[in-house]
Amino acid sequence: MSLALQKSLLENLFSAVPRFFAYNFEMENKSLFDFDVLIAGGGPSGAALGNLLASSGISCCVADKAFFPREKLCGGLVTAKTRKLACEIAGKDILSASDAYEMRDIAFFYEGAPVAATSVDSPFNIVERRIFDNALLRLFVEKGGTLLEGREVVSVDTGVNCVKLKTGETLRYRVLVGADGVYSKIRPLVEQHPLPTAFCCEAFVPKDTANLGDCIAMHFGLVPYGYAWVFPRSDSYAVGFGGLAPKDFDYKTTMAYLLEAIGAPSIPFKGMHVPYGHFVRKPVKRNILLVGDAAGLVDSMTGEGLYYALLSAKKASVAILNFLHSGEKLDAYVASLAPIHAHIKSATRAQRFFYNRQIQKAIFKRAHGRTNFVRYAAENVISNGDMTWGEAFLKYFGEKIFGR
Ligand SMILES: Cc1cc2nc3c(=O)[nH]c(=O)nc-3n(C[C@H](O)[C@H](O)[C@H](O)COP(=O)(O)OP(=O)(O)OC[C@H]3O[C@@H](n4cnc5c(N)ncnc54)[C@H](O)[C@@H]3O)c2cc1C
Repeated sequence: MSLALQKSLLENLFSAVPRFFAYNFEMENKSLFDFDVLIAGGGPSGAALGNLLASSGISCCVADKAFFPREKLCGGLVTAKTRKLACEIAGKDILSASDAYEMRDIAFFYEGAPVAATSVDSPFNIVERRIFDNALLRLFVEKGGTLLEGREVVSVDTGVNCVKLKTGETLRYRVLVGADGVYSKIRPLVEQHPLPTAFCCEAFVPKDTANLGDCIAMHFGLVPYGYAWVFPRSDSYAVGFGGLAPKDFDYKTTMAYLLEAIGAPSIPFKGMHVPYGHFVRKPVKRNILLVGDAAGLVDSMTGEGLYYALLSAKKASVAILNFLHSGEKLDAYVASLAPIHAHIKSATRAQRFFYNRQIQKAIFKRAHGRTNFVRYAAENVISNGDMTWGEAFLKYFGEKIFGR
């Protein structure tokens, strides 16, 4: 063998050594990836947080068990405050990219009979969640985030800061975020007590099947501690109900009855839980935090959760950036959630008052034809969030009693 050939063989052999070890390391650890922030769940809370962190140059991964676009059972009602916040987080008008259906007219019904209707100044938008969620998530990728679809988080080793996926892969994090919805797998790492929830049923009725009018309809007095809704979308209506019904409440028969009543008995429907009046008081433990439904952040009068998913993501992004850049404790996130917690507590007090059967009956008896009743609730409390439920009740009853 010539000296030159011997030299080149040895060179090849030695250059292969590091590759061999690298290969074995990869195999041993089944593709170990490192991220500053790992977000379990790519719904609105996870995608919003991803957008904010990726814009700040943080190495961030969203792992979701679904492939997007994916369905999510939801009325898709986006209030004016939610739209504003979503556009701020996305850095563009994300609603236009989401095929949103704009709606100003809203009507309240009690036990099936019309009570009052009004047209609000700040319109509602009704989105299809498969389109809206996908738009927000793709924007995260455009900003440089890593998206792993079809990756279910199955376990977490908090000792070594690693998450195991159903695919067998392992992801390492400095901060782990539970944005994995109402049935969160991350929540038990932070809070042991189960989160009490309400139950919802919903169907999407094509517009050529039934004519349910072109207005947002909220039906009270049909479901215990909750309401039924009809939200028009571009080609269908989202029809559903949710509430704190007793254990023996027959959801299936009630939903079938509702669909039959609107002339769409053969439309399939699904059920899902929603946080409703209970939230995780301290949604942080060491380097793990929770956002959105995983933290129980939903309005307990209306079931609105999109706004709180986005707002908690915004607050989490501030705490995470301070943690990564200056070593501040993530606990600051808990304090920043105080206004959301205060709102949910006040909504829960209003819920106990407003959904009490006798009180509700008395209110609706007197509210007949009174548009201000619908306006304060729909425009001020629900859409803009510039009044609490207590303030709206006081204003309405004040006007009735004192004629103001
Ligand atoms: C019937 C119904 C109607 C509703 N209507 C409205 C409405 O009109 N307006 C409104 O504002 N709110 C509404 N809500 C509430 C709203 O849907 C939620 O508050 C909102 O979706 C919360 O967003 P999120 O990102 O926290 O969770 P989600 O949107 O639930 O997203 C969680 C994500 O995590 C993923 N995931 C779950 N487990 C894992 C895992 N182990 N590993 C990886 N990924 C995982 C899921 O695939 C999902 O993509 C409604 C809820 C229901 C049930």
